[in-house]
Amino acid sequence: MKYEKEINRRKSFAIISHPDAGKTTLTEKFLLFGGAIQTAGAVKSNKIKKHATSDFMEIERQRGISVATSVMTFEYEGFLINLLDTPGHKDFAEDTYRTLTAVDSVVLVVDSVNGVEDQTRRLMEVCRMRDTPVIVFINKMDRDGKNRFDLLEEIEKELNISLHPMTLPINSGKDFKGVYNLHEKNLLLFAANTKTEDASAIIEDLNDAILDKKIGENDATILREDVELVDGVYGELNVKDYLKGKVAPVFFGSAVNNFGVKEMLDTFIRIAPTPRNRETTVREVAAEEDKFSGFVFKIHANLDPKHRDRIAFLRVCSGKFERNKYYKHVRLEKDIRFSNPYSFLARSKDIIEDAYPGDVVGLFDTGNFKIGDTLTEGERFYFTGIPSFSPEIFKELVNKDPMKTKQMEKGISQLTDEGVAQLFTQFGGNKKIIGCVGELQFEVIQYRLLQEYGAAVEFRTLPFYKACWLTSTDNKKLEEFLRFKQQNSAEDKDGNPVYLAQSEWFLNTEISNNPDIQFHFTSEIH
Ligand code: GDP
Repeated sequence: MKYEKEINRRKSFAIISHPDAGKTTLTEKFLLFGGAIQTAGAVKSNKIKKHATSDFMEIERQRGISVATSVMTFEYEGFLINLLDTPGHKDFAEDTYRTLTAVDSVVLVVDSVNGVEDQTRRLMEVCRMRDTPVIVFINKMDRDGKNRFDLLEEIEKELNISLHPMTLPINSGKDFKGVYNLHEKNLLLFAANTKTEDASAIIEDLNDAILDKKIGENDATILREDVELVDGVYGELNVKDYLKGKVAPVFFGSAVNNFGVKEMLDTFIRIAPTPRNRETTVREVAAEEDKFSGFVFKIHANLDPKHRDRIAFLRVCSGKFERNKYYKHVRLEKDIRFSNPYSFLARSKDIIEDAYPGDVVGLFDTGNFKIGDTLTEGERFYFTGIPSFSPEIFKELVNKDPMKTKQMEKGISQLTDEGVAQLFTQFGGNKKIIGCVGELQFEVIQYRLLQEYGAAVEFRTLPFYKACWLTSTDNKKLEEFLRFKQQNSAEDKDGNPVYLAQSEWFLNTEISNNPDIQFHFTSEIH
């Protein structure tokens, strides 16, 4: 195994949360520990303000920020950590889902006041589909939050995952006194923004009167009971179960006060997975293999209309990626090389000579890539598990300027390659249907088609609520169904048949009326 050393020191992960739970703040603290940034406030919040739905400049600005902060690489305790950023805004949820295909584990931030929120639920569903290992950080303990055990129960129930507390909080809000680390068996006293080591006290024996002195008799008694209860129920963390995505270690803290963060980071580097093996259409690819392979999980358009090039984000899955070496672009069946690949070290974008499994490389692209594309040293396979999810809003794309039809078609094809939206073409009618997760994306599409391709378009709302990809072992039945349901049938960009349902009732009716046809809620891109 040629690259074992490089692979074993890499950890690639994403922080996910419902907006405002503290993802940006926690990211910044991680980077501070990694020495990648010196000052607080350096990580730009990559979120779109709630009221900015029609503010194109805001969208453009955000796109600029999000490319700059898409991947942050830093070193900590000899490990090389790749932190992949995910957009918080729900309209860009699909972007987040795809980023989750490129990481090996996640840290989920939960706000102790709000508990489990909408986005948390959806993001965890995606993690569960992939058995992604999860560490939970319960944030904002300095605010009057929910009861610690109620929170644990709520998270377990709502997210359908077993938890394993690693620390226990002593109160919350203005009475928050700190956390007890069950693994290290030490007490971390809460103080805003101190180096946490300074504030920790080793409590070898919880019955020691020193505990009463530090946090008061009453809280000491409660803590003793809590620890006994938790030790009795949970015991030691089973790291194997964590790696299988079956149990999630939990930490309590306050990101803005940099409290409880280091404890989590130290555990993270101890237990989080190094680059994992990946499934492909042909076989499982091990990170340790000598030969390079990787896939594109995100594409970002250049902001400058004069330079229409894009950046494709490639996750290296095996072997070693090298600058200027020819690789096989499996879908296009052609060999290409990259003279200016760059890395995402947090302070600057540097041209890199090579990259290893777990790394993300930025490749300049003039239109060769779409999401899910695989590069190899010659073997033909695609990485699997990079699905499209059903959009939630569907609109017909109406061309306002017939002279610009070609430009519009090129534009919409490229934008959908980037994963901005999904394109469906209605059977028979040839209507172009755009499916998105949020309204914001339609604005982005309309704006970019005009700015970048000179094509003016409008959208007409369609009464669909879900797209289902169809398969059947009985081709005739499938064709018949599609012909019969022409108004609701379309093909996706890769020519796969799709049923567009008006409502849950219609969908369920069709599912039960057509037992020979399978209705899928996600599609593998390949
Ligand atoms: P994101 O949307 O998940 O990236 O959330 P941010 O990191 O931008 O945080 C949202 C707000 O919560 C900001 O005003 C933060 O200052 C605040 N915040 C983050 N962590 C804490 C915390 O531990 N305690 C309190 N009280 N506020 C916090």
